[in-house]
Parts: sequence; structure tokens; C-alpha cells
Amino acid sequence: MRKPKIVILGAGYGGLMVATRLQKSVGTNEAEIVLVNKNDYHYETTWLHEASAGTLHHDRVRYEIKDVIDRNKVEFIQGTALEIKAEEKKVILENGEIDYDYLVVSLGAEPETFGIKGLKEHAFSIVNVNAARQIREHIEYQFATYNTEAEKKDERLAIVVGGAGFTGIEFLGELANRIPELCKEYDVDYHKVKIICVEAAPMVLPGFDPELVNYAVSHLEKKGVQFMIGTAIKEATPEGIIVGKGEDEVEEIKAATVVWAAGVRGNSIIENSGIEAMRGRVKVQPDLRAPGYDNLFIIGDCSLIINEEINRPYPPTAQIAMQQGEVCARNITALIRNKTELETFTPDIKGTVCSLGEHDAIGMAFGKKMVGTKASFMKKMIDNRALYMVGGPSLVLKKGKFNVL
Ligand code: FAD
Ligand code: NAD
Repeated sequence: MRKPKIVILGAGYGGLMVATRLQKSVGTNEAEIVLVNKNDYHYETTWLHEASAGTLHHDRVRYEIKDVIDRNKVEFIQGTALEIKAEEKKVILENGEIDYDYLVVSLGAEPETFGIKGLKEHAFSIVNVNAARQIREHIEYQFATYNTEAEKKDERLAIVVGGAGFTGIEFLGELANRIPELCKEYDVDYHKVKIICVEAAPMVLPGFDPELVNYAVSHLEKKGVQFMIGTAIKEATPEGIIVGKGEDEVEEIKAATVVWAAGVRGNSIIENSGIEAMRGRVKVQPDLRAPGYDNLFIIGDCSLIINEEINRPYPPTAQIAMQQGEVCARNITALIRNKTELETFTPDIKGTVCSLGEHDAIGMAFGKKMVGTKASFMKKMIDNRALYMVGGPSLVLKKGKFNVL
């Protein structure tokens, strides 16, 4: 009898959890498992703000996929998925196509630009290793060029971060630590540098604990970050951005670097494949299958799960993607063993910790607030745990964060 073929698209947090769990639970005689990913490496999306600021080398945030999969059980294909043809049970790749019996879509997120003019052309987003490397290089180039020009352009030393959500704040924390190093390296007067965070909502980290938010804001302000709250980015231009506080009040901010960190949507493949979604995220059934499909699982940032307590979607996080990966693997194992009862996915949110640079953070974990080195230590433990879950102790030793003081 032909073995069922399980195809996993994307080797991020969700996809790698599915692959590493299936390689343990499913025998080689039971199913064929194929993992498809754009690169031959996995990157820790949750560490990309560090690589973008240049406080952590980009090689530290990635590792080879072959190091964590059992190649006797999982076939790895390096390829870019373009479209899912769910009715035909196949995926179109940039170089060919692949058919499946069960498909797991774990292709992560893309920046949500809300149709704002000029963002795609003139702003960067912290989305992958290539983007992180480009942001780091771009900022460094501005500092390196500043003193070479007869007429000094101060806008070279201006960096705008759009959005004070978790990504924006974590990036600002790293940037605030990196700037003094860049000033020293390129003989630039620190007082000439401007880091401006523009946030549309009336507060930084909307919805997060106000006491922790105050801690983060005052920490970042002390390090030179200026906040423009209740101010929306309306347009990005080759010279910088246009912001507005209402319909009429607009202001131009000149900046050579604009980093857009104001939200995400699911991978565009979802919508391009005609699968019903909200901002590229599929409201999955409790067993993580897409509505109307019995063999299509969608997890991570491409999925949408409602928090019934507040009747709003859970924010897409690595924490949820990994938990979904485990349930998804168990449900696929059940299906190939002809079991009809599948597990329901319920997020188990242990907390949220937001880093403010290498040795500082704010967080709420297990119902307790924490700040400073304690929160920073907790963040590193969370980062190490994610490595452990996928690659065990050897991956933690190779890639883990141990610089806790
Ligand atoms: P990802 O982990 O992003 O993986 C997607 C994978 O799909 C990648 O390997 C990518 O290369 C691959 N891929 C994409 N398109 C294609 C294609 N067309 N073909 C083939 N492969 C493709 N969450 C937390 O819980 N805690 C945090 O501290 C935290 N920090 C964050 C910090 C930053 C800077 C950012 C940007 C996000 C952070 N998040 C955090 C959110 C978290 O990173 C995401 O929710 C998580 O990565 C989602 O996992 P995923 O498996 O859906 O996607
Ligand atoms: P987000 O949606 O959480 O925050 C985006 C911010 O941008 C919001 O505060 C929003 O008001 C603001 N914004 C939107 N449009 C704007 C505009 N035109 N001008 C100015 N500001 C504007 O997005 P994110 O920070 O990219 O996070 C994405 C996901 O990743 C979230 O689910 C988040 O929880 C998760 N994440 C978690 C962590 C962590 O746990 N430490 C870190 C980073 C990201």
C-alpha cells in the first residue's frame, strides 16, 4: 500500500516543531515526510531585531536545518512555495511542484503595510536574515558616509522606527545600545544621532501593563530614543516619512533609515491560493485544519485563533506557533493511523517578555511582573528553551544565550 505523504511548508518555529515531532512519532513504514523551506537554514525570527541592529551577528540567529532533522525520516527540499492547489493536493514551487496527502502550512508572516504609500519602496522591515543584514549594513553605511561628505547631512544619522509594538520596542532597545558603538567607530558626535519612534496608538505597547510600559519608555528615553505617540506614519518617501496627528496636521521627518515594525499579516501564499483568510491568516478549526479541508493544517502566523475570553485573535507569536506544531504533529499521526478523533488546540500562554537590549527587559510571566536583569534572564531562558525544544541540549550549547549578566 502507498504510504501517505506529509508535506510541511516552512521550517520556522511551527514547521520545525511539526517535523521534529513527526520524525519521533511516525515510523518510516507509516508515512513519507517532506519539509520544504526557502533556505537550507532555520532562523530564529524572534532574534532578528538583534541582527538588524548589529548587536548579534546574523550567523548567530540561524542554524542548518539538516542539523535538527533525522534525514532517514524527513526529506528536506530547499525550495520556495508559490501556490497551494488544495483541490489537486499539490503545491507549486519555484522549481517544480510537489503533491501531498497531508499539508502543513507554516510559512510565517509578512509586514502589514496597510497600503501606506512608499513603505514598500522606502522602508525596511525586520522579516528574515537577508533583511536584517541589509538593515544593519544600511545603518552602518550612513555612519561611515557622514564624515566623508563636505556638507554633512544630519538626516543620515536619523533613524525612524514605525510602530511601538513588541518588534519596534525590542529593535529600539538593541539600537540604543548599538549607536554609541557606531559613533565611536565612525567618529560621529552622539548628540547628532536621532532615533525616533512613531506610534499611532495613544500609548507604547498598546494593551500591555502600563507600569511595565513606563519602565520601557523611560529606559529607552534615557538612551536617547524620542517617542511620537498618537502619531501615524502616513507616507514614506526617499527622504524620510510624513506623519500625521489627524486629517490636517502633517509633518515631514527627514531620515535616511526607516524601519517599519507596525504589524504583520499571514504569508501572501494563503490569499494567492484562494484560501479564505483575514489579513492572510486563516481562522482554523480547533484541530488546526483549515475550514472545509480535512488534510490541510495551518499553523503559526498564517493561522488565526480567537481568544474567547476577550473575543479577539491571539497575537501571532512563536510561543503559539510551537505549541500548535506539537498538536499538529499529534493530529497528523492520529489521521494516518485512521483515528478520527483529533486533539483541540488551546494556547497555553505562559507570559510575554519584551527585551530592551542585552541586559534589560520587561515582562509578565506566570502572572508576575518583572523588569531589568531578572526579566532579561527570563528572556534568554525562553530563547534557549525554543532551541532546546527543536534541537535538544546540543543546539542550546551551540546557539544558546548564556551571557546573562
Ligand atoms: P517563522 O518562524 O517566521 O517561519 C517561517 C518559515 O517559512 C521561515 O523559515 C521562512 O524562510 C519560510 N518561508 C517563508 N516563505 C516561504 C516560501 N514561500 N517558501 C518556502 N519557505 C518559506 N514571538 C514570541 O513568542 N516571542 C518573542 O519574543 C518574539 N519576538 C519577535 C521578535 C521579532 C523581531 C519578530 C519579527 C517577531 C517576534 N515574535 C515573537 C513573533 C514570532 O517570531 C512569530 O510569531 C513566529 O516566528 C511565527 O512562527 P512561524 O512558524 O509561523 O513562522
Ligand atoms: P504589533 O501589531 O504588535 O504592533 C504594531 C504597532 O504599530 C502597534 O502598536 C500599532 O498601533 C502601530 N502602528 C500601526 N500602524 C501604524 C502607523 N501607520 N504609524 C505608526 N504606528 C502604527 O506588531 P509587531 O510589534 O510587529 O508584532 C508582531 C507580532 O509578533 C505580535 O503578535 C507580537 O506579539 C509578536 N512579537 C512578540 C514579541 C515578544 O513576545 N517579545 C516580540 C516581537 C513581536
